[in-house]
Amino acid sequence: MKAAWITAHGGNEVVMVGEHAQPIRERGEVLVRLRAATLNRVDLYMRDSGAGITHRLPQILGLDGAGTVETVDNDETRLTPGQQVVVHPGITCGRCEFCLRGERVLCSHMSLLGEHRDGTFAQYVSVPARNVFPMPAGLSFAEAAALGVNHLTAWRMLFSKARLKAWETVLVFGIGGGVSLAALQLAKRVGARVLVTSRDRQKLMRASKLGADHTIDGSTQDIAKAVMAATDGRGVDVVIENVGAAVWSSAMKSLVRGGRLVTCGATTGDQPPADLRRIFIRQLQIFGSTHGELGEFQDLCGFVEQTGLKPVIDREYPLDQVHDALDRLESGAQFGKVVLRID
Ligand code: ZN
Repeated sequence: MKAAWITAHGGNEVVMVGEHAQPIRERGEVLVRLRAATLNRVDLYMRDSGAGITHRLPQILGLDGAGTVETVDNDETRLTPGQQVVVHPGITCGRCEFCLRGERVLCSHMSLLGEHRDGTFAQYVSVPARNVFPMPAGLSFAEAAALGVNHLTAWRMLFSKARLKAWETVLVFGIGGGVSLAALQLAKRVGARVLVTSRDRQKLMRASKLGADHTIDGSTQDIAKAVMAATDGRGVDVVIENVGAAVWSSAMKSLVRGGRLVTCGATTGDQPPADLRRIFIRQLQIFGSTHGELGEFQDLCGFVEQTGLKPVIDREYPLDQVHDALDRLESGAQFGKVVLRID
């Protein structure tokens, strides 16, 4: 089969694309013929170093993906060959204390596609049947693939962690990135008011077209002051944050008393001042979050089908041009998901 994989760590020169052995499906698994996968920042991280992530080399990159069922067990009742499906990339042990508690997302033996095992930048991937879900109607393979990491992450942050209500206001940092755009789309669909920040005017304009109620240019405006001006001096109920140290102080100052901040990333650094006095006096709540449960993914797929939400696609590249796709993501110029088409 065709695939893209890393042979070492470094730049694009360690990313190979060509013929690769096809995965062998084990009992209980589904062999999926992938049609699209999207790029996530962790793909760059795996290429660059992969430090702290137990993996072997060579390894196929790619976390999310959508395609059709190639083969399943004869006694599989939920999925049938030819069915259009989307993949949840987190494979869990089912036996550790966290899995037994029903929190598979905390599994101490978590194995993620493209991080700990061969991923989705390939014509085929084999995963446990429980990780495969019928594709929401109305989506392309590329749009469906985009759900598996970014939208699932944003879903858990907004609804499971922050418990966002329709009448509340959300501040989303760094609009243009996959999780931020997903958070904007999801929060608007449930009726919340959404403020977004970026240092790129073009991205702010595009966010407005997607429904953002208020935009803040971080390159020219003091974000916390702009938030207060836009909320009659009150602040926002929820902050969705993955930028890290560069905006942490602004994020804390933007919250109303009792407000909730959810973080899922630290691109600009992970050791900002904690601002403890503000946290306890204003009784702020801070949540860490990463990825999401199988049940959350099922809910997300239902939500997407019901509301007609379509993930934002930046550009599509054929699998052969994986290097160009990685460059596009690394440039930071993208607005939405960078997609690999797998013909
Ligand atoms: Zn487990």
